[in-house]
Amino acid sequence: MPRPIQALIHPHALRHNLARLQQAAPDARVWAVVKARAYGHGMERAFEGLRAADGFALLDLAEAQTLRDLDWRGPILLLEGVFEQRDLELCSRLDLWHVVHTEAQIDMLSRHKTQVPQRVFLKMNSGMNRLGFAPERFRAAWARLNALPQVDEISLMTHFAHADDAVGVDAQLAVFNAISHDLPGERSLANSAALLRHGNNPVVSADWVRPGIALYGSAPDHPLHTADDWGLRPAMSLRSQLISVQQLKAGDEVGYGGVFKAEREMRIGVVACGYADGYPRHAPSGTPVLIGGVRTQTVGRVSMDMLCVDLTPVPAAHVGSEATLWGQASTGEVLGIDEVAMAAGTVGYELMCALAPRVPVTSDN
Ligand SMILES: *Cc1c(COP(=O)(O)O)cnc(C)c1O
Repeated sequence: MPRPIQALIHPHALRHNLARLQQAAPDARVWAVVKARAYGHGMERAFEGLRAADGFALLDLAEAQTLRDLDWRGPILLLEGVFEQRDLELCSRLDLWHVVHTEAQIDMLSRHKTQVPQRVFLKMNSGMNRLGFAPERFRAAWARLNALPQVDEISLMTHFAHADDAVGVDAQLAVFNAISHDLPGERSLANSAALLRHGNNPVVSADWVRPGIALYGSAPDHPLHTADDWGLRPAMSLRSQLISVQQLKAGDEVGYGGVFKAEREMRIGVVACGYADGYPRHAPSGTPVLIGGVRTQTVGRVSMDMLCVDLTPVPAAHVGSEATLWGQASTGEVLGIDEVAMAAGTVGYELMCALAPRVPVTSDN
């Protein structure tokens, strides 16, 4: 028998979450963001659940190639655009749309030899100060692109820094609109947080929304809202089993450094899951976990291949009992990845993306 850990991908949850997001912005088309191997879910399995999207947005040419190999004929958008001149040849060959956020990318386009003009998304830095043309340079960049025979339709895009918090999107939206209101072309502004929290404003949902994290069933603004509040279902369940059970006396320690010390007699279980599987090492004692679908918590330090859990609330647990580190237990009980992430001082995004290659991934329909 292989080591019992596995990540189970739920295509039905992906379909449900996609439909939920489409409902939140019914007039917009949806780029399903599948960068970072579909946030750790794997391109093939994510594609199975997300093929009803209007397009796929990602970063890597290899991921774009995977989608074309899966026979996806619809739009694919490179969210950071091209990195070097010859990437444009692949854009032509695979029919990829790409973001343009620097003058250097316009230079490359101007040198590109193609009969078929390319569709581009011109990105404005409206305040996040990561990628994009400064507002005062945006219209000149647009004019430059518009004059190139290599360029087909120009769409306009920006990205919000505060869509998930109380600051909101108004300030960046005002900058974006002031500069671009009279330029032609489709607009794409909203990530998951902007879509769910501000998508009822048609200027925010615009022509294309770009949800990532919400597709996978994590709340973009946790703990303000939970995935459940937004009607999202977990698309990944990380499950393993108890491979050992220990009876502790008061004063006994658990694991490296003995950072957990039993205050009373208690039973603990040892789960075949550690940081080499992608579980966060910095998750402290008290991080939630499901054993046989019953909620309990970790005790002691997470080690490379194992972590320990308090079996007090689960007296029937035994070697072989199911452990759910996040997602849905086979009993149907759900432990949100956002709760585990919060306990470990991180976000659901990081946990999903960190799923280690040694964990076998399967899907359940
Ligand atoms: C990753 C990314 C998204 C998706 O963000 P989520 O918070 O996961 O919804 C949208 N747009 C851009 C430009 C991105 O890089």
